[in-house]
Amino acid sequence: MKPLQINSRFSILFLLLNFCLSPFVFSQGGSSQLRIIMIGAHPDDCDFDGGGTAALFAKMGHAVKFVSVTNGDAGHQTEGGGVLAKRRKAEAEESGKRLGVSYDVLDNHDGELVPNLDVRLQIIRKIREWNADVVIAPRPNDYHPDHRYTGVLVQDAAYMVGVPNVTPHIPPLKKNPVFLYFQDKFQRPNAFRPDITVDISSTFDQKISGLDAHKSQMYEWLPWIGGYSKDVPQSDADRKKWLAQQRTIKINADMRKSLEKWYGKEYSDKVQHAESFEICEYGTQPNDEEIRRLFPMMKKN
Ligand SMILES: [Zn+2]
Repeated sequence: MKPLQINSRFSILFLLLNFCLSPFVFSQGGSSQLRIIMIGAHPDDCDFDGGGTAALFAKMGHAVKFVSVTNGDAGHQTEGGGVLAKRRKAEAEESGKRLGVSYDVLDNHDGELVPNLDVRLQIIRKIREWNADVVIAPRPNDYHPDHRYTGVLVQDAAYMVGVPNVTPHIPPLKKNPVFLYFQDKFQRPNAFRPDITVDISSTFDQKISGLDAHKSQMYEWLPWIGGYSKDVPQSDADRKKWLAQQRTIKINADMRKSLEKWYGKEYSDKVQHAESFEICEYGTQPNDEEIRRLFPMMKKN
């Protein structure tokens, strides 16, 4: 019993020490490891919009967390409630494993998200606990109210993460992170601007594998609500191929221009898969040098 007690005392000490030191060891700018947090409304949103970039960060040894602000309990035609929420949490965790990121699912109802103070504080806590250098979330222009309000909630958190008297039990961030938006197709009141475009050709298959973990969505709910259930192939291999075709983002002229800026002309012409992000006006405003530090996979060739 004794050695066990000593061991457990040591482990508690070690854990405490780790807990106390980790914000400093991995503090924003205090270590070469970057800390990225992507925040989506549903357990698959971050995977769609940033899965390839997240996998690249993870491969390079950086720390990435996905957060789903709702538990996804409305996203199915025949299942719902707690049973569906549990299924989706398990799918999200599996996707996280495949991408090399940690995945948190907050317990707010799907389809009912509103930008209230309670959820704003949940988001502030997540960003602070992760000690984030970069925060990525949707723009507040979107067809889905949960996406729209996730955008608003993260905007509302962008200043507050540094205010000590807001959720005072979790220390404020020393440096305001860089806030970015995921790509979307909405044109009003203004179109998405691809400030940063990451070549994800080398992690595209991994991104699809992450999406494939969300079986309730990729092969059941989304085909049903989209009216294409009959197109879903039967075998696992065929499904993945189908998903890859379906989820290939077309690189438009603006994205190509952005790729050219970050990677050089010759290289950018050959990029097959990419993900773009727009710099939010709130939070730290990065110059090009800072963007290169925060996105070290973008290198001039
Ligand atoms: Zn969604």
